[in-house]
Amino acid sequence: MARILSTLTTLLALAACGGPERGGLEVRGLDVVVDSAAPFARSGDLPARLESTAEAALVYWGGSWADLDGYTLRLTDAASVPCGGEASLGCTAGGEIAVVTADPGAGTFACVEQTVLVHEIGHAVIGDPWHEDPRWMGFEPVAEALAGRAGYGADGPADCLITRSTWQHPGGR
Ligand SMILES: [Zn+2]
Repeated sequence: MARILSTLTTLLALAACGGPERGGLEVRGLDVVVDSAAPFARSGDLPARLESTAEAALVYWGGSWADLDGYTLRLTDAASVPCGGEASLGCTAGGEIAVVTADPGAGTFACVEQTVLVHEIGHAVIGDPWHEDPRWMGFEPVAEALAGRAGYGADGPADCLITRSTWQHPGGR
């Protein structure tokens, strides 16, 4: 009995400190924190959409899920995230990949594919903070792979149109 109790205590302790954070889930070993009220971020298909979007990005960047080991992905409905001293739509630093769930002009994204996740995964795979790799201005294969998916608006279905310019960044300092 003592042994069972101590095992239970251990399990409870693990659950308390190792459990998911608020709105947390896990996709292929990547911890995900959903800190957003965007309809797509609250949709039941989010884990599958995150997985397939990240997969398409990893293929594009020549990476694998191992490149995302140790990262936490945070979806936030903040207007921006600080990144290298600037306000940005996404940032990959200090073990965190943060992406905002709304575009400052167009409003809340309709799907996770529209966020800068595809871009940020590039930083996780190749680094390149100055965007010197020509692939930062490409993304055609990713846009093709993710085209035609369902989106979610405040009042129901919405288009999940992919705009490559959201992911693109010209090179140089
Ligand atoms: Zn970047």
